[in-house]
Amino acid sequence: MLAMSVPEPRKPIEPVERPVPEPGRGEVRIRVHACGVCHSDHFVTEGLWPGLRYPRITGHEVAGVVDAVGEHVVRLAVGDRVGVGWHGGHDGTCAACLRGQFIHCERAEITGLTRDGGQAEFMLAPEVAVARIPDGIELAEAAPLLCAGVTTFNALRRSDARAGDLVAVQGLGGLGHLGVQYARAMGFETVAIARGEEKAALARELGAHHYVDSQREDPAARLQQLGGARAVLATAPAAAAIAPLVGGLGVEGTLLIVAAPFEPMPVGAIDLIARDRRIQGWSSGTAADSADAMAFAQRAGVRAWIERFPLRDAQAAFEHMMSGRARFRAVLEVVPQRLP
Ligand SMILES: [Zn+2]
Ligand SMILES: [Zn+2]
Repeated sequence: MLAMSVPEPRKPIEPVERPVPEPGRGEVRIRVHACGVCHSDHFVTEGLWPGLRYPRITGHEVAGVVDAVGEHVVRLAVGDRVGVGWHGGHDGTCAACLRGQFIHCERAEITGLTRDGGQAEFMLAPEVAVARIPDGIELAEAAPLLCAGVTTFNALRRSDARAGDLVAVQGLGGLGHLGVQYARAMGFETVAIARGEEKAALARELGAHHYVDSQREDPAARLQQLGGARAVLATAPAAAAIAPLVGGLGVEGTLLIVAAPFEPMPVGAIDLIARDRRIQGWSSGTAADSADAMAFAQRAGVRAWIERFPLRDAQAAFEHMMSGRARFRAVLEVVPQRLP
């Protein structure tokens, strides 16, 4: 099969020929149709994740069709439309798993990091990490819902915000454009915060009631004018842009962090104490969460807006995503390709 491989940190993603993998016990083989390009892929390309082994096939927004099943696979069968996200498996026996917190498994697998991901014609995944994709969603549009979608959906639905509350989404990239749509569909008064006046029309098209151009006005002050946010979902990974948003929170408001800036975030303690504000991290979700995120998206008309690239152009798609110019998610389409 054709696979796009990261040979070692800070080297371009390159096409390689690999044997089609055979599913082991509890695993399914997925014929990959599409794989989204996520900012977190840079943990692999830059070598930022501890203990990574190379070469590695990255990609954790995978949509495809089950092509073979290993022993003891009970829920899925050949031909099922499925997806895999960041969560790539759990052992079921550690302290976190015994409490049902599979995402926090002490021996959790991460798709495209600890095991090979979806930038290939085929991949293996443990059945427990695989979500069914509802009929009616095109696979290339489903792919971003497996990470960008479930992450924003889960953070918003687990927040304290209720219908009618003011909720802001910072950033209008792969995560943010889905966050705005989910927030609107959940019944929140939705604010989009991004840079540049040219994004105002896009924000409104995505469903935002308000748009804040952070280059022209202070987002925290504007959120206070609107009454103070119950939740702010930070999706653009820049600590300097995220930290001041604490000032836009209302009483007991929460800053939800799903973007992963590598640098520390300076936040004043007084700003947290003043209104009993909180900052909370949120890490994607399990296969069941992904299934919920996709079903909700389908019912509510939430759609990933994607730019398609052939599998072979994985490096170009990655650079496009990192440049911030993707509108809004770069997705590799994995159609049968000739090997070099
Ligand atoms: Zn991701
Ligand atoms: Zn576990």
